[in-house]
Amino acid sequence: MGPDSVNFETINLIRQITADGKLEIEEVWDLAEYLNNNAKARKSWPGKRLWKVIQQVFEDNKVTEEEMHMLGKEIADIEEICSEIMEEEQAPEPDEDRPPIDVTTLSLPSIEKTVYVHPRNDDKRLFASNLRDHSCTCEDWCETHHDLPSGSIGRLCKHLVDAMKEAHEDPKADTEDWLESLTDLIFILARLQLPAKPLTIWEHLEWDGHNAYVAYGESQWATVIANVGGRSYEHYGFNLVDSRWSYGTEPPDAQIIAQHLLEHSAYKPTGDTVDVTPRSDPEALTLQE
Ligand SMILES: [Zn+2]
Repeated sequence: MGPDSVNFETINLIRQITADGKLEIEEVWDLAEYLNNNAKARKSWPGKRLWKVIQQVFEDNKVTEEEMHMLGKEIADIEEICSEIMEEEQAPEPDEDRPPIDVTTLSLPSIEKTVYVHPRNDDKRLFASNLRDHSCTCEDWCETHHDLPSGSIGRLCKHLVDAMKEAHEDPKADTEDWLESLTDLIFILARLQLPAKPLTIWEHLEWDGHNAYVAYGESQWATVIANVGGRSYEHYGFNLVDSRWSYGTEPPDAQIIAQHLLEHSAYKPTGDTVDVTPRSDPEALTLQE
């Protein structure tokens, strides 16, 4: 199989769904709906492969934890195959002298403020995001962000990202000592609607007029939020064990970023690549043949 037989619309959808490293029931629903409404996607790779699993999952319109794990594994396999296909296509980059990289390790300032945040979907619940110790009352924070060290960017769930942004916009809040790169990161995460990946180390890298944020820690996947020109940033994943970019999609100056990550991270392999978060059952879906 070559890149010509890959449906990149489907790949992009999966990339977005798993950008925060998690698979949630709402996202499975989006994926099912997309495939259900799109015959071309259902008949090409990777939709064809996913469709079989989705049909199984939605057969009784009840999604079990086991089915979520099955789907998570399927998506991880697709990611790996896609990386391989894309890597074969990419010419190796010239091994030039690397420019010096200016590295800033980022941490969160402690602010005396609690923000009550409405989740972005139409959820009626209200979450209390405390900016003094960077804690939140949401499920995501309690499950994935709470055990990161105090001040770590990785403690930010989506609500804390929004709360930090709100604090920065509050004329009464004292945010003068915030690093510009930290302020930018908060606004980028808010715009991308992403929580911070729960990783211990977050850095801002600058070289030759380019810049990117990188995060790494107890995962074989490092996160890269790279400047792709102007004020635009995009989210990428880099696998520290296999030294490859997620879905074979690289940021500008990929080699420079990859080398920095490989030299500085000390990851030892352990678990899964995609976490699954089963929550509630989806609505009924009438499946296409
Ligand atoms: Zn939260």
